[in-house]
Amino acid sequence: MSAETSPGLFPDAEPVPAPVVHHGAFCDVALNRPVHYAFTYGVPEELVDQVRPGVRVAVPFGRRREVGVCVATSDTTELAPGKVRAIADVLDPEPVVDEPLLELTRWMAGYYACSWGEALAAVLPAALKRERGTRKVVLTRPATGIGRSELSELEERWPKQHRLLRTLLDASGPLEKADLLRRTNLSDSPLQTLVRKGWIVTERVDAEPDELLSAETTARVKPEVLTEGQSLAVATIEGHLAAREGATVLLWGVTGSGKTEVYLRVIETALAQGRGAIVLVPEIALTPQTVGWFRSRFGEVAVLHSRMTDAQRLEMWRRVKRGECRVVVGARSAIFAPVEDLGVIVVDEEHEPSFKQGSAPRYHGRDLAVVRASKAGAVCVLGSATPSLESWRNAQRGRYELVQLARRVHGGAPPPVHVVDMRTEIAETKSTGLFSRRLTKELTETLARKEQAILFLNRRGWSPVLWCKACGETAKCHQCDVPLTFHRRLERLVCHSCCEEQRVPKACPTCTAPGLRFLGMGSEKIEQSLAAIFPEARVARMDSDTMLRREDYEETLAAFGRGDIDLLVGTQMIAKGLDFPKVTLVGIVSADSTLHLPDFRASERTFQLVSQVSGRAGRGDLAGRIIVQTIVPDHPAIVQAARHDYETFASAELTLRKELSYPPFGKLIRVVFEDEDPARVKETAGRCAAVLESLSLDGAVVLGPTEAPLALVRGRTRHHLLIKASEGAECLGRVRAFLVEFGAAQSRPRVTVDVDPVGMM
Ligand code: ADP
Ligand code: ZN
Repeated sequence: MSAETSPGLFPDAEPVPAPVVHHGAFCDVALNRPVHYAFTYGVPEELVDQVRPGVRVAVPFGRRREVGVCVATSDTTELAPGKVRAIADVLDPEPVVDEPLLELTRWMAGYYACSWGEALAAVLPAALKRERGTRKVVLTRPATGIGRSELSELEERWPKQHRLLRTLLDASGPLEKADLLRRTNLSDSPLQTLVRKGWIVTERVDAEPDELLSAETTARVKPEVLTEGQSLAVATIEGHLAAREGATVLLWGVTGSGKTEVYLRVIETALAQGRGAIVLVPEIALTPQTVGWFRSRFGEVAVLHSRMTDAQRLEMWRRVKRGECRVVVGARSAIFAPVEDLGVIVVDEEHEPSFKQGSAPRYHGRDLAVVRASKAGAVCVLGSATPSLESWRNAQRGRYELVQLARRVHGGAPPPVHVVDMRTEIAETKSTGLFSRRLTKELTETLARKEQAILFLNRRGWSPVLWCKACGETAKCHQCDVPLTFHRRLERLVCHSCCEEQRVPKACPTCTAPGLRFLGMGSEKIEQSLAAIFPEARVARMDSDTMLRREDYEETLAAFGRGDIDLLVGTQMIAKGLDFPKVTLVGIVSADSTLHLPDFRASERTFQLVSQVSGRAGRGDLAGRIIVQTIVPDHPAIVQAARHDYETFASAELTLRKELSYPPFGKLIRVVFEDEDPARVKETAGRCAAVLESLSLDGAVVLGPTEAPLALVRGRTRHHLLIKASEGAECLGRVRAFLVEFGAAQSRPRVTVDVDPVGMM
């Protein structure tokens, strides 16, 4: 094991006593491990010329060999000669990480309380984190002749193999192995068993070029004149571009107000200056259509997203690095694209929680965009119809420049929103509360006019609750603290947390009474009920159960675009980006599912969701309408979303946040403790809180520890604590430094530190 040095991430760290200096050739290497330091290695003479900050090096680590990134070189070290091992090899002739990205990752490590190596690992394409890259992907499919009868053989004894084979049989074509394992939440071993049995075939194939780049798309016509709002926005951004000064502009405008055109114009200007651009969009909005808009204007663009294979990503990354592509469009991680001399970074739908990464380093793509732009002297453009309250407040206090696009380009008032009170509806009609009379009537009329409708429900499956009338218990997963969702086509109860499945019990598992009842609804039930009520209509469903392959998603959207589908039912998957002129009705079957989450952002999310889904109607010349069903019609999020009144909503919500000193007033750091052993979790969480308390933090309080809302996942008990710091509290550096060390020192329970968390589950 090599000795460690502190790269000085934490200015509050203890001063070191006067060192003894040794001379020679050394380099600091950041390894992708959850430790807060870089490691010092010696550099053999024959490699001295090749070692520079930003190149990858192979180093001995313990008994293994690992790939790390050289972050600094030096001709002295304070470590005793015997403690320094030598690097084994230099893997790149040129730095793969340039100076600004090194600096950005160093900042990330300090801010998000992770190691420099973990931050760098987010930047490098996976293929570069190993010594040898790969161009192959592994495809999986059922062997010929394998079908339902084999499936039923597995049913009783081999639930994991059953889940794998069924998923493959359900898919419309081969699935990538990684995709299959992620979806089923399974390890490789049941898959290998099936491969050995000859029931599943795997095949290594060359990665195909990304179809997002090869798909035919219609060009976006470049309008002759900009609207007044667009001109102002473009002028503002171009002013900063000309001055080559960093700035953040919040572009606030409803869908259809012409934000995309503004992005395109300012990128054009940046390119004319010889500079590059990055456009971040939510993963789900990264469709051939979106990419096509940029391609039709700029020719070559690079696309980076999570569904790419390692080889595709590496190829893209290299083209950007070589300067062959100056415009990068991608999901969250595209913020790390190695674009030199950045002019513009655009974050579209900046309020989207999916810009936050769910594993270490838990960075927020939008916030990194702001930081990267400011370090690069570039302009960051944040676009949204419903800005996050963080960005809104930053605009209010002058940190961001606010530009509003107040009207839709093609005019017209926003579509009217009708809120249906489902309490009275259910009472009056004695119905199940699936579709109100109003929604049914609108659906009937839409179909009669040969127009299209979208029905949204943020929940998949048939029914989210199986309830016992006798004892009042609901069926729960035995290893997660979540109710099981009934999936009718599978005839199974599915845990949406761990993916495990069960047969539907005939009697209550708790009290053995018969007569269990399914309560509530999911997208599967909506789809089937629609088909029953409107037998003539062509109904399709888009959720992660029906859209197994990315081709399914594109094909269904294309069919909808051609008018081969009348009614489209879906979850979040359909909330964004869809632009179909014949959609004149949007129904939100229940707006309540997000409202009751134990999260201080529940209101904000609901407002955003209702606004966003509403934006899908009336995109063309035809007038649209929106029906929102809810049991809390008076909730401010619903009332203001129905009025399209973001400002009133935001100011009321900000007042509440301020009273509670929740973000954007002050900061949150969430620490989660997870382990199979509840006592261990409790003890460690308590000890962590006690140390934090003893640091007598000025301007910060420690809340908890308590059980996390998701208190049990896959048999692991989960506790969490929150550090809530007032704005500008200076103790946070110390808190981060402590948490990194604390986390690194525990092998059990697992400790995760989430700075600026977006989820509280
Ligand atoms: P947003 O990104 O805010 O949803 P878009 O930029 O996609 O809005 O614009 C909405 C529609 O208006 C698109 O079809 C686009 O081609 C068109 N459009 C945008 N700007 C103009 C303009 N200045 N003149 C005419 N049409 C425009
Ligand atoms: Zn579970």
